[in-house]
Amino acid sequence: MYNFDFVRPKTIADAAAALGHEGAQALGGGQTLLPTMKQRLASPETLVSLTGIPEMQGVCKADDGAICIGGATPHAVVAAEVAAHYPALAGLASHIGDPAVRNRGTIGGSLANNDPSACYPSAVLGSGATVVTNTRQIAADDYFQGMFTTALHEGEIITEVRFPVPEKASYQKFEQPASRFALVGVFVAKYADGVRVAVTGASEEGVFRWTEAEEALSANFSADAINGLTVPADGMIGDLHGSKEYRAHLVGVMTKRAVAAAA
Ligand SMILES: Cc1cc2nc3c(=O)[nH]c(=O)nc-3n(C[C@H](O)[C@H](O)[C@H](O)COP(=O)(O)OP(=O)(O)OC[C@H]3O[C@@H](n4cnc5c(N)ncnc54)[C@H](O)[C@@H]3O)c2cc1C
Repeated sequence: MYNFDFVRPKTIADAAAALGHEGAQALGGGQTLLPTMKQRLASPETLVSLTGIPEMQGVCKADDGAICIGGATPHAVVAAEVAAHYPALAGLASHIGDPAVRNRGTIGGSLANNDPSACYPSAVLGSGATVVTNTRQIAADDYFQGMFTTALHEGEIITEVRFPVPEKASYQKFEQPASRFALVGVFVAKYADGVRVAVTGASEEGVFRWTEAEEALSANFSADAINGLTVPADGMIGDLHGSKEYRAHLVGVMTKRAVAAAA
């Protein structure tokens, strides 16, 4: 590791000011950024830790019933504190990586990174959640813009994520056994006005909504409703863990499992 400066502000305003300096970068749990720095793939001059900011920590319930999660909240806290309000989201958080990753990694870091195999992006897109930053609110449908790409501007901080709570939901992950990232993960959420289906791990474009399945499930919320529906293998990720065709097949399998678990 090379030398760098480290600051740990106590407020969002101070963090935003620190990130305004050239060469500064936000640090969440460091589960992605620190290994990247060790490999010399990133070399920020100053790390601005967000984990000491009380207003970015923890879980609360908004007046409209939405669950609000602070941007620097670790996965283990989400798993524990959201369980009573949004079990599918808590279940997702409780199966991220291993205990060390869950105790350090944060929801804001995961969403800012937008790894194509990460779990949280599917919950955010599948719930139609809102990503709140220090300057604006971004709807999930506008936030994810491709593999490792988001609507965030340079130095913008994810301060909170707001999840509307569905009637029923489930996340089913076919995990890569070494890392526990999703080979394919599907988040299904049934709201009064329709069903949302978000798929992670599968596409070269990152997390996406499977709209054909959403239409079928909005008409009939049962696993049989998506019989005969398929996603094209073209555009899926193909690697040593699974071919494009295998991932495309898994999308249907995991969606059925998610619907069955939710129902
Ligand atoms: C062994 C291992 C297994 C894992 N398994 C899974 C898994 O099964 N599922 C899964 O979903 N993930 C998995 N992860 C990813 C992990 O859960 C972390 O969420 C992820 O690495 C990034 O979160 P972080 O808080 O550590 O962010 P960091 O590594 O600190 O930062 C990542 C990026 O986000 C930026 N950033 C951080 N916080 C914010 C913020 N609040 N606002 C704006 N930008 C920010 C940083 O500048 C950096 O660019 C795994 C990681 C490891 C190392």
